Amino acid sequence: MRCRKCGGAASVEIRRHHTAFCNEHFTEFFDRQVERAIEGERMFTRDDRVLVVVSGGKDSLALWDVLRRLGYQATGLHINLGIGEYSQESQRKAEAYAAGQGAELLIADIPGEFGMNVEEFARATGRVSCSACGLSKRYLFNRVALDLGFPVVATGHNLDDEAAVLLGNLLHWQTEYLARQAPVLSGGEPHLVKKVKPFYRTAERETAAYAVIRGIDYIVEECPNSVGAKSLLYKEALNLLEQAAPGTKQSLYWGFLEHAQRFRAVDDPALRACVHCGQPTTSEVCAFCRMTERAAERMRIRKGSPEASAPLAGAGRQGQTR
Ligand code: SF4
Ligand code: ZN
Ligand code: ZN
Repeated sequence: MRCRKCGGAASVEIRRHHTAFCNEHFTEFFDRQVERAIEGERMFTRDDRVLVVVSGGKDSLALWDVLRRLGYQATGLHINLGIGEYSQESQRKAEAYAAGQGAELLIADIPGEFGMNVEEFARATGRVSCSACGLSKRYLFNRVALDLGFPVVATGHNLDDEAAVLLGNLLHWQTEYLARQAPVLSGGEPHLVKKVKPFYRTAERETAAYAVIRGIDYIVEECPNSVGAKSLLYKEALNLLEQAAPGTKQSLYWGFLEHAQRFRAVDDPALRACVHCGQPTTSEVCAFCRMTERAAERMRIRKGSPEASAPLAGAGRQGQTR
């Protein structure tokens, strides 16, 4: 296998493009894909401060790394979910990258601020862990971006992630979710920060290859709550199809984006400020405040003391973010 650009030994094969590259020319290809996503979808410019949500995994660290290399103003935000050793190790990886690169990293500490981790939120409110976790992450990165004046939040979701979500939404015809699945969700509404996915053009194998080539030390273990997740099943199904017909994921997701307008006709419900925290919501109190208040109530009942969960009830805006 030879590099398409220089004819040297290739290290990364990209079957969906019928091509292969050496490390140097793969990095060039990768950079170009990311730039095309950012510029083509008008995600942000080099004048914007971008808040990158950094879990400590390969995609988010690769995103932070490539944005910094390409000259964007990218600050990391790690959200400590409080999921035992997995969260501790994830935070260590994010902090080690930041220290090694001299990059600015903010930490939002859910157990530190709210007195419970996302699994306890889930148990107390009858949600599954991933639902409470997703809600908490969306809430926190929006709040941190607003509080600190970042106009845009970037996440490391890649082509495989987006294709798997799309497959799930299509299998269950979740038209509301289809209407909102896009590489850019422009804030537009007060208190809602623009969200972007600069890796929507790059496959998971490619972000992994980039991370390895760049020597990025990321957490390899999956979150224990991901075992049995439907999204992994959809990814496996798509991997099988991709194996037999390279380009399947790309044609599924990019094809959807070309036709997505018809789903966007669904009216977005009007947003207003949560009466407790000021974050955008369709009801009087936002879903995150409802969840934390119910969890606090449960804790009070369990401990039989009205003060037992005082830190939760506050749900302060700046809290543990540093
Ligand atoms: Fe959160 Fe679920 Fe992902 Fe774990 S698998 S980090 S609980 S969304
Ligand atoms: Zn080459
Ligand atoms: Zn709220």
